[in-house]
Amino acid sequence: MASPRVRVIVLNSALGPLDYRVPHGMTVEPGSIVVAPLGPRQLLGVVWDADRLPTEEVGDNRLRNLLSVADAPPVPGPLRRLIEWTADYYLAPLASVLRMALASTSALEGAKLVVEYRATGDVPDRLTPQRAQALERIGDRQGLVRELAAIADVSDGVIRGLVKAGALKGIEVDIDHPFPLPDPDHAPPMLSDVQQDVAGTLRAAVDARAFQPFLLDGVTGSGKTEVYFEAVAQAIATGRQTLVLLPEIALTEPFLKRFHARFGCQPVAWHSGLRQSQRRRAWRAVASGQALVTVGARSALFLPYRNLGLIVVDEAHESSFKQEDGVHYHARDVAVMRGHFERCPVLLATATPAIETRQQVALGRYAELRLPGRYGAAQMPSIHAIDLLREPPDRGRWIAPRLVVAIDEALARGEQALLFLNRRGYAPLTLCRHCGHRFQCPNCTAWMVEHRLIRRLACHHCGHVEPTPRVCPECGEEEHLVACGPGVERIADEAAALWPQAKIAVVTSDTIWSPAKAAEFVARMESGEIDIVVGTQLVTKGYHFPDLTVVGVVDADLGLSGGDLRAAERSFQQIMQVSGRAGRGEKPGHVYIQTHDPAAPVMQALVSGDAESFYAAETEARRDADAPPFGRFAAIVVSSEDKDAALETARALGRAAPQFDVMQVYGPAPAPLAMLRGRHRFRLLVHARRTFDVQDAIRDWLGRVEWPAKVRVVVDVDPYNFL
Ligand code: ADP
Ligand code: ZN
Repeated sequence: MASPRVRVIVLNSALGPLDYRVPHGMTVEPGSIVVAPLGPRQLLGVVWDADRLPTEEVGDNRLRNLLSVADAPPVPGPLRRLIEWTADYYLAPLASVLRMALASTSALEGAKLVVEYRATGDVPDRLTPQRAQALERIGDRQGLVRELAAIADVSDGVIRGLVKAGALKGIEVDIDHPFPLPDPDHAPPMLSDVQQDVAGTLRAAVDARAFQPFLLDGVTGSGKTEVYFEAVAQAIATGRQTLVLLPEIALTEPFLKRFHARFGCQPVAWHSGLRQSQRRRAWRAVASGQALVTVGARSALFLPYRNLGLIVVDEAHESSFKQEDGVHYHARDVAVMRGHFERCPVLLATATPAIETRQQVALGRYAELRLPGRYGAAQMPSIHAIDLLREPPDRGRWIAPRLVVAIDEALARGEQALLFLNRRGYAPLTLCRHCGHRFQCPNCTAWMVEHRLIRRLACHHCGHVEPTPRVCPECGEEEHLVACGPGVERIADEAAALWPQAKIAVVTSDTIWSPAKAAEFVARMESGEIDIVVGTQLVTKGYHFPDLTVVGVVDADLGLSGGDLRAAERSFQQIMQVSGRAGRGEKPGHVYIQTHDPAAPVMQALVSGDAESFYAAETEARRDADAPPFGRFAAIVVSSEDKDAALETARALGRAAPQFDVMQVYGPAPAPLAMLRGRHRFRLLVHARRTFDVQDAIRDWLGRVEWPAKVRVVVDVDPYNFL
């Protein structure tokens, strides 16, 4: 009988599926994680369902043997289907998507035992004072040699001596000790009637064990989290796993705290800040089904859950769910597909749904659940526009008089204020007033942003930094360099000048770069140690500070410039979210929006609170333009350090573009960010009917064109970033 042959996806994006032979004595099944030979190398791979992938035919006699099978559960079927779908939809190599599922290689090494020691009760013949001290302090504790040495305040040698003398004995333990189990009945809230209704629907959906997407649309502070926790409780009670996706790791910390208060222990956190041992433990617990609730950013979506019963995408409108490098996927959309393959409900929670999501509701594909008012006594904040032309700030300042007065009053009442400006650093542009020189990044088509706190100019696209110069490199003049426009640091300076007694915190990704930093910020806000927060989009979501009553949007027009089709929608969402931080407790909130164009539809919608007509108008504009969700876009970005090579490839692609009535190709044109990280960029934009299989057309098209190795061609399906 011929040896069984299996089809394997190896973790090498340049290779398609390969066939291998399963050697005698080895058993594998679809999903088994294996080590396969490739030339002289060994590669990790996953055995795939034979009938689902094409390969080149290789004769049995040329097949090589698999080398080993990992001591880890096989990649489950629903996840294999998700990996196929993601690779297909986003035109990515299967191996690149699979790599996200195998995100901890140490987890594949199998269970690991370590030896811990504990006292046997025997007293050694030679009982030195140190040994006596060690035995006394260790008592009936158990630990690694170095842990016991630390407890006993003796050297490792003393502990080892005690082991040799038979006073301590070794016990093998698993390093992946289980995570604590959340208790669904630990501290359930008393839900209001509306909340109770929604929670009931969600609990039933969890019990139904069927695919069903929901939009949980509730204003900020309406209790969305509280309500979806009821669905989580139901999943826990029935022994099924939950995945909660958050848009930023900065939000993890407040979430963990809240979860702890509700369920008595923390969930499993998955993010880029984990140590290798923590990743391994989390991965294995997810794969075994022991981890009942996992919270994480995008990458948690591809973990190998064993029995997923619920997926929650919190702040589902956030554009940070869109991954902009590697596999260009949108975590919100992939989450829905995962729910489809896992046959479980998917809950998109947000106060400001994306137009795409609303459209799915309109089509009847997603069920809508609403929480129309804030919970308890909290009222929605009042929102006022400040016309910067009519009531401008003083010269050289950015905070208008009316907002100054509002903050004065809040501080006098002992309350807190938030100034929002979505721009890191001190100033977005530095200019020589003598010769007009502007400081530009050497690698990107972008201005260098001054960061005064660290005395550097930084490029926000590639990370290039240089010391802030004193002299203009162009004309050599000193004392003529000026900072143009404000960033958060400049607003913080202005606030410090206006309110010298106030304690001011700047919150951006420069200051809050880890969950621990976020926790520190939250603690300082809660204890009233901070009076005024100046922050970027990082402070717009999730946080709940009852004493924060005034929010000022320093430049509401900022997000509206640029040719992004979602600009108005995104500005609306961002300002609604930041407004949602005001007046969440019993004290009323006030929001001031500084704008040059108070008549713009976005500003009108924000002030009147009439989200519906804004959404309706935006939706119609999209429909007229055949823009998403009615039509579909894909961007093809061609880049190279060699400008001519990039241009030539882009033109070749342009010439080879397929002709269809239902699909137009625009370009190539220099991408708006014509140079990025030292690479020249050209873009082709594909615009097609919703029903048209763009992926297939693009796959076929790119397959017909060849380009040199120094040119990179990246396809972004459903792009969010039009730079
Ligand atoms: P959202 O997620 O919609 O912004 P949250 O779930 O954060 O709203 O709720 C806002 C605040 O109101 C939180 O402090 C939350 O604990 C509180 N809250 C909401 N619903 C209840 C409830 N039924 N019982 C007690 N507190 C609640
Ligand atoms: Zn740069």
